Amino acid sequence: MKYPLLAANWKMNMTRDQARTFCRDLTAKLDPASLSHVLIAPPYTAIETVASCLSGSVRIAAQNCHFAPNGAFTGEISTGMLIDLGVNAVIIGHSERRHVFHESQDLVTHRLRGVVESGLHAIYCVGETLEERESGRTFDVLEAQLEPLPNLGSALDKVTLAYEPVWAIGTGKVASVEQIAEVHGRLKERFSSLAVLYGGSVKSDNIRSIASLSSVDGALIGGASLKVDEFLAIIRETLIVKGV
Ligand code: PEP
Repeated sequence: MKYPLLAANWKMNMTRDQARTFCRDLTAKLDPASLSHVLIAPPYTAIETVASCLSGSVRIAAQNCHFAPNGAFTGEISTGMLIDLGVNAVIIGHSERRHVFHESQDLVTHRLRGVVESGLHAIYCVGETLEERESGRTFDVLEAQLEPLPNLGSALDKVTLAYEPVWAIGTGKVASVEQIAEVHGRLKERFSSLAVLYGGSVKSDNIRSIASLSSVDGALIGGASLKVDEFLAIIRETLIVKGV
């Protein structure tokens, strides 16, 4: 991965036609050097379309995947299937998987291991709920979510962390620069070799102060990544702030 990294999580949005139009606009408006700092995570159904439109200029991620190579797992997608589509990375442990679909830490750990063992890169999401933050448990929760990392051994270099406070995702409530600096600082102390993205209501009007933190290596962007001009503004602001 190339940092700063601006990662778009399209969630359950974008038909193939919409994805094609977005990618055409993105490549028309951004130079190749800047595109190399971009990652897009389309829904599974648009991965092939995005991969063929962007032809290697942008990294492509899936939004989740299963840990087994194949088998009786209805509704799941394997790492081998994603590699076959030209995917480079997989988002694992996103808060919507953990909290809306009730994926346990055990399942998330299996998925993470499956991804890095397949040779794919993992964007591993960690973050606390509002209730956990308000009861002073932020770092205990993060510690439990980080537990699988030391056991990955040399495959740890295939991990990018994303700090995504659950209370800031899709809510319009962005964490303060002080809150982001505190958590990112702690994550960097714990895993000095890992890049850490921030995610949670990132927009073109708040990215400058977030990206100016040296412990922030980029952003994972949901809602604001669906409009190409807004996403472009976030990319441009970040690259300027980081001196790229
Ligand atoms: C996300 O889905 O990872 C995310 C951060 O969403 P949003 O930017 O919409 O808060």
